[in-house]
Amino acid sequence: MKQKIKKINQLLVKHYGIPKRSKKLPNPVDMLIGTILSQNTNDKNSYQAFKNLKSKFSSWEDVAKQPPSKIENVIRVAGLGKQKSRAIKKVLNGLIKNNGGITLKGIKKLSDEEILTELTKFGGVGIKTASCVLLFSLDRNVCPVDTHVHRVLNRIGVVQTKSPDKTFQKINGNIPDGIAHPFHTNLIRLGREICKPSKPNCTVCPLLKICEYDEKNLEQVGSVKKNDFMLLDNIN
Ligand code: SF4
Repeated sequence: MKQKIKKINQLLVKHYGIPKRSKKLPNPVDMLIGTILSQNTNDKNSYQAFKNLKSKFSSWEDVAKQPPSKIENVIRVAGLGKQKSRAIKKVLNGLIKNNGGITLKGIKKLSDEEILTELTKFGGVGIKTASCVLLFSLDRNVCPVDTHVHRVLNRIGVVQTKSPDKTFQKINGNIPDGIAHPFHTNLIRLGREICKPSKPNCTVCPLLKICEYDEKNLEQVGSVKKNDFMLLDNIN
């Protein structure tokens, strides 16, 4: 599996390049909130909701004191306002209760596994959200698995799994050193632009030669629309 992941990464980097990344790693609490906001919406809307939260309230402590309805109004653009405002409050109040303040500084010294266990103790934080903190805030060699990463890796034949969390368990531990960020980010871009859920545009896919998907679509499907804004690379 490691060799196949290495090959996929090489082909994607050749096609898309190395994704841009801010030199300053984002704060883990910001990353948790950003990832909660990103569920079931596009990155531009969740980025707007994140900026709204930051500008409307003076700190995460301030957000934690607000009634969910007030948070919901501010993050409306990201959709699922009720659910997300509750999840945000739960996480912030959980941090205050467990860590004595809204900070995740202590997690830096923990192993990847320990961090996943710690973060998923908070309601509303699943494996994907916790693994985004590992990759984007702590620069660990971990590949978060969302629906795009899950779908593409199953089609190519790297895994045969039924859920993103199962895909995460299978691939992590098999990511060659130092490639998790380009691998993750370029797979998402491929899933958004080319290997779409209903009609993949296989004729323009850089992975066509190594892909094992039986239902490849070899008819050209219009032009490829660029979709490379990544929320989690823009949180800081
Ligand atoms: S060849 Fe087609 S199915 Fe395979 S990864 Fe590329 S777009 Fe997806």
